[in-house]
Amino acid sequence: MPYGKIIAIANQKGGVGKTTTSVNLSAGLSLRKKKVLLIDFDPQGDSAKALGYTEPNKMKDTISNIMLEMIVSDECDIENRIIHTEEGFDLIPANEKLSNIEKTLENIEDKETVLKDVLKPVKDKYDFIIIDCRPSLGMLTINAFTCADSVIIPTQPEYLSATGTQQLLSRIQKTKNDQNPQLEVEGILITMTDERTLLGKEINRQIHENYGKHFHVFTNKIPRRVSIAESSAVGKSIFKYDSKSDGANAYHVLAREVDLNAKREIKRHRDSIAR
Ligand code: ADP
Ligand code: MG
Repeated sequence: MPYGKIIAIANQKGGVGKTTTSVNLSAGLSLRKKKVLLIDFDPQGDSAKALGYTEPNKMKDTISNIMLEMIVSDECDIENRIIHTEEGFDLIPANEKLSNIEKTLENIEDKETVLKDVLKPVKDKYDFIIIDCRPSLGMLTINAFTCADSVIIPTQPEYLSATGTQQLLSRIQKTKNDQNPQLEVEGILITMTDERTLLGKEINRQIHENYGKHFHVFTNKIPRRVSIAESSAVGKSIFKYDSKSDGANAYHVLAREVDLNAKREIKRHRDSIAR
């Protein structure tokens, strides 16, 4: 039985590595023989672009049409819209039309649960559904939090805007209280780290000190490497572009940890039913 775990990759700040992490975590998990669906949930369509689909605005089947169908008719055909990528995982792309969906959501009832309803028919067919969120805490991101089991927060090691991170954590807490009691922060992931600089080391230490008490901070950090940026630019995962690099290794280690977490949760769940 597939895990059926949904993970939102979120941070309202842009350029922190959400898309890069979504794509490479999906690729890393599928190298571990897991069945993965990546949902691009940002009107910029960057996940699709990072996988070689260079013009998402010309793509017909995207998450927006599927959500619109759900809004209009209370049902939708998601299965026939799924793209099988060369990386071995599945993708539902996004494009600029997704911004209109966010506006539409504001005016309907049950606006938080549309993505959850859309994913219902496929959730248990995948081990992981990864959602690449847009850089905001608007209704799209709230939809992602409402259906997710956990959130991974990519963070660049720079002096953190404390209020920004606080807003994000409060938003997660509010969704947990109001819509989705099982929502957890899977971890804060430090991306684009440069351990060689003193500043890099100092900020890594501060992130652990400020958040480590309440949240898991992944010990495995994603290094800043030109090959990681290049791999996205040529539409490949780091595993296909430079499989022996330490960037690839860092995403392998992340995929392993995420996979083992899910395995542990399933076991705990089964044991509690058996008791
Ligand atoms: P977000 O989705 O949060 O906006 P991206 O994943 O698109 O962030 O990353 C922003 C930019 O930084 C992109 O150009 C990407 O290629 C680059 N980038 C991401 N991670 C790394 C890394 N570890 N090393 C070097 N460049 C990176
Ligand atoms: Mg992005």
